[in-house]
Amino acid sequence: MEEYHWPLRNGITRTRGFEKKRLAQFAVNCGLKCGHGCTYCSTGAVLRRHKAFKELGLSPFENSYAIVDPDTPVRVARDAASKHERGLVELCTLVDAWSPEAQKYDLGRRCLEAILSQPGWTARILTKNVAVAKDFDVIDKYKSRVLFGMSITAAPDKNMTMAAVEPHASPNSERISVLREAHSRGFRTYAMFCPLLPEISDWSQQIDELMGIAAECEAEEIFVEPVNLRGRALPLTCDALWNNGYLNEAVVLASLKDKQVWSEYARELILKVQQSVRRRYDISRLRFLLYPSRLTPADTVRIKKDDIGVIWLDRK
Ligand code: SF4
Repeated sequence: MEEYHWPLRNGITRTRGFEKKRLAQFAVNCGLKCGHGCTYCSTGAVLRRHKAFKELGLSPFENSYAIVDPDTPVRVARDAASKHERGLVELCTLVDAWSPEAQKYDLGRRCLEAILSQPGWTARILTKNVAVAKDFDVIDKYKSRVLFGMSITAAPDKNMTMAAVEPHASPNSERISVLREAHSRGFRTYAMFCPLLPEISDWSQQIDELMGIAAECEAEEIFVEPVNLRGRALPLTCDALWNNGYLNEAVVLASLKDKQVWSEYARELILKVQQSVRRRYDISRLRFLLYPSRLTPADTVRIKKDDIGVIWLDRK
């Protein structure tokens, strides 16, 4: 994995998009390309026009490199101290503060300390790397102002399959263990199950296992999302599955290109998740993030008949 550096300007930024998702009012990001290399990552599509890619001669959709700014904690400390408006800040929204390249500069820990050392800030941690556990002492110090989450994308029996599409992230089994450890230390936790891929993690049994983990960890919120087809997410993920021998999964995923098929997958996923959360935990904690633009009109009507827990992310 090649590593590039790019100096970013902002430390803590306002994020209307994540506010709509009820995730955070503010965002911290320590780079432009995350070294975990998830094939479905939407950051390449979001940042595709950033001048860094052109100047470095890199494609925003390639997953063989990382772009990090080692000075991020300095910018975050500056903004954490100087901003008058304060609130919930997510670390991170576009990359991962505990990815391999971020770990080299201890960015997760240093950003967390910079945020929490100032009053008025609450941090939402989201990572796919169990290296975050080495910073549990920082969370311990500010327990009431930290929401701790591991991004979990499947139950442990799918470790091998998910390794094909999340090549440099920690295995889901280890992420689950770290979430459990965080709960056992008395940290505030939330669950993030995004995305639940078809034919891999959208089975009722898989969903039940994940919701059971959320219940066991007393998650304050449960976020769930269908796979986002922005940019090159679909072909990259299909190729990775196919090349690693997961042929059926690749074929089913490829079929989502058809709007009708995606719509059906999203509708059924909502139903299965609602049923499972009702059975295993508390439906008021569910936040199913849904962009309706790819839904058919018929599925939109059907979902709206019982859309408890659904956050509609349309422009209105
Ligand atoms: S961990 Fe998150 S930010 Fe990093 S590559 Fe995966 S999806 Fe993208």
